[in-house]
Amino acid sequence: MPVRLLFPTLIYTARLQGAGTRALNRELLRETRQIRDQDVPGQKWSARRYPGGYTSYGSLCHLQKMSSTFATLEHKLRRHVHAYVRSLEMDMEGRSLAMTDCWVSVMTRQVVHGLHLHPLATISGTYYVQTPRSCSGLKLEDPRLDRFMAAPPRRANARPELKPWITIPAQAGHVVLFESWLRHEVPPNPAAGERVSISFNYNWF
Ligand code: FE
Repeated sequence: MPVRLLFPTLIYTARLQGAGTRALNRELLRETRQIRDQDVPGQKWSARRYPGGYTSYGSLCHLQKMSSTFATLEHKLRRHVHAYVRSLEMDMEGRSLAMTDCWVSVMTRQVVHGLHLHPLATISGTYYVQTPRSCSGLKLEDPRLDRFMAAPPRRANARPELKPWITIPAQAGHVVLFESWLRHEVPPNPAAGERVSISFNYNWF
């Protein structure tokens, strides 16, 4: 076939793995609820920008430095971030990647997180702590969508890599990594119960 694949968008998904992951998850969930209940500035920030839900993005966004539990998560994520960077073939000779931000999000029914990207970062991602059945996934957008102009739509059964949007299911205990420029959203959450996730940014130095 005389067709080549160029300029791909690489997405990393994996189970977190390692000893004690279940216990870690329980503790992350407990601390997340505690943070949500006590973080008054974050509650106010969320009321304006995250209606119905809670996120510590605007108030407590360095949780890996505030809590040994979140520091343990950072430690467990390192292997995944390195594997992802290797697959991207980034030249990290003499450079290092470090987690710069880490925050929690709690979404109840109908809470939405509109299209956005993560400025001032290289690699971003989310770790899922609690995912009620049929809760919203992470919807990724083809970064070239604004250039499609007069192109016809893709077939409904097109290969995933040719579709303009792909939704990665949210699965507790799993991590998703993407390059920070990739626009994404969480559509309105249809599930009852709390969808709890921890998002983070990495940057290189
Ligand atoms: Fe995001």
